[in-house]
This record gives sequence, structure tokens and C-alpha cells, in this order.
Amino acid sequence: METITTKEQLGWREDNLSEEQIERILSEGLSREQIEYIRNMMIEVKVNIGKHLCPTIADLEDVRLFYLGRNGGKITSQLRELGKLPPEKRSEAGKTINIIKEFLIALFLDEHNKRASNEQKERLLHEKIDVTMPGFIPIVGKKHPITHVLGQIVNIFMSLGFEVEEGPEVEYSHYNFDALNIPHDHPARDMHDTFYISDAIVLRTHTSPVQIRVMREKKPPLRIIAPGRVYRRDADVSHSPMFHQVEGLLVDEKTTFGELKAVLEAFLVAMFGKDTPVRFRPSFFPFTEPSCEVDIGCVICNRKGCGVCKQTGWLEVLGAGMVDPEVFKWVGYDPEKYIGFAFGLGVERLTMLKYGIDNIRLFFENDLRFLRQF
Ligand SMILES: [Zn+2]
Repeated sequence: METITTKEQLGWREDNLSEEQIERILSEGLSREQIEYIRNMMIEVKVNIGKHLCPTIADLEDVRLFYLGRNGGKITSQLRELGKLPPEKRSEAGKTINIIKEFLIALFLDEHNKRASNEQKERLLHEKIDVTMPGFIPIVGKKHPITHVLGQIVNIFMSLGFEVEEGPEVEYSHYNFDALNIPHDHPARDMHDTFYISDAIVLRTHTSPVQIRVMREKKPPLRIIAPGRVYRRDADVSHSPMFHQVEGLLVDEKTTFGELKAVLEAFLVAMFGKDTPVRFRPSFFPFTEPSCEVDIGCVICNRKGCGVCKQTGWLEVLGAGMVDPEVFKWVGYDPEKYIGFAFGLGVERLTMLKYGIDNIRLFFENDLRFLRQF
């Protein structure tokens, strides 16, 4: 059988085998048939590990195992079966298979390295930080509309010389009612209006008991406001079981209903704008005498009449009056010497009017779509 040992004998013009591989093959003095077998095997393997078929290292490994896998790999099996060949063929076949194995090991190593460096490049490409990208702007929290308006109210009264006082939300019913001249048979003490903790203790239904606490501790002149949470058994679109009030109290040796009017008008103008119409209506509260309710021209319809103002053109925003001398007796002030006025307002109601909100529950549902509008 003719053995091939020179390129001239091979007669290849160009090939996918490298010069070194061809030298290696020629050095073994194989037959043309064996050399063609090596060449065809290398073409087959290169096709199978082509870029599209094996894009990743894992795909490449599948192909490697198909040829070189210890158990059942195509080339591995051929090596094992050499022993079955007749002795005169065994040597040449052995050389051929070993050359293929040698070439394949080098080929797979090379392909593995290419993919490894590609995969690393791609990972680095994804991981790289573009310092020119715009940053994420964190969502900055803001004040709840009730907190915001409560702050405005407090600021306005502080600018008028009032100081802020606070008291407990769980209150003696004595402070919440009796001391404010609300006797036992008063409808406000009804179970339907008040959360009772016990017979003697309630969740305060208004911030007025703060007045009592302050007057028991301090001597006139007093000029205070008491903002805070209050509780009533009441729930609909304009009532919440918990809401906020601001109570005001001024006590001195000399004051007048005219001063009360001036203070409240100054507050309402600061709150709703300088052309806001304000009117005072006679009313009744157990702890003031005389008492009044204060309305502003409807901010929704501009006094033309609408559902919010019940077609009257006016909205009630405050209750007020001159402190009843009975209240002074409870705290040990001399009613002959001192005179005072008090007022109270609901923060939710003012906020609803200021922003045209028609349902008080929106304040407490904590829906960010609503809260972010303020
Ligand atoms: Zn109206």
C-alpha cells in the first residue's frame, strides 16, 4: 500500500488543516485512505462546533463528549475497538485515531478558550457602568394634606400671638364634658357619639378639655390653641371616627366679642384669601355664651349655590363664643374678673373646602395617587 510522506504526494492546494497538522500527518507515513479519514473527521467536527450550533461553552462540551466522551464517545470507542482489527491493520488505524484524538483535544481547547473570552467580554459589557446615564430620582415623601393644613392653621394663629398647648387623647369624661358645662343629660354624651373606655374615661370628642387643663394650671392672661386628634362614633362621606380639631382660647381681664370676630376674620382671610366673605350666625354651645357659628362664602360655587353649600352659598367653618362663666367656676377663675372667648374648627373640613375634596375617607385610605396631589 502506498504511503504518503510529502505534500506533493498529497496534491492538496489548500486545506482546513494547518501546516503543522499536515506535517504531523505526513510524519506517520499513512495511506491516502487514512489521511482522508483524518481530514474528513476534522471537517465533520468543525462543522458540528460551528458558531451557530455551539454558541456557548456548554454547547461545545456536548459536542466534545459526543466525540471524546469516556463512555461511548465516537473516537474513544474507535480506540477501544482497535484490538478487534486484524494485526496488520491495527498499527495504521491506531496511528490515525490517535492523530484525530490529538487534533480534537487541541481543537476543543482552542474553541473553549474563544468562547470563554467571548462570554467574559459580554459579561463585562453588561456589567460596565455608564456614568453618563441619568440617575434614579428617589421618591421624596411629603406631608399629608391634613398635616400640611394643620401646620398652616397653627402658623396663622401663632402669628396672632397664640401659643400651642396639647392634651391627652384618652381623657376623663369629667374634663371632656362636665367641666365644659355639658351635663349628664346632654345629647353629646350619648353612647352614639362617644367612645367610652369606662364610665369615667373617654376618647376625647373635642380638643376643648385642653382648655380646662391649661386653665387649671395657669393664670390669665391666656392665649392658646390646642390642635389634635378627636374621636366620635360617626362615619360617612363628611364624618370620620377620628378627625382633627383646633381649639382656641383667649382669657384676659378685658376682651370683647369684637376681638373674637377680628381674630377669626384674620384667620379665615389668611386661610382662604383676602376677598373671602365671612359671616357670623347666632348658635348654641354649652361652654360659650353668647355663641356663634362662622360661615365663609362657598369656595366651590362662589356663593351661587351648589350641592356642597346645600344651595345656601355659605359654608360653616367654625364654632365660637364668649366663654360661659360656668366654665370659669370649674377651673377656679373669678367670672367677675375674667372674660374670654373660645373657638373650634375641624381640620378635615377646612382641608376639604380648601382643595374641593368631597369625601373625608380619602384622607385616611392612604392612596398615594390622592396624597401626591398636595
Ligand atoms: Zn356652593
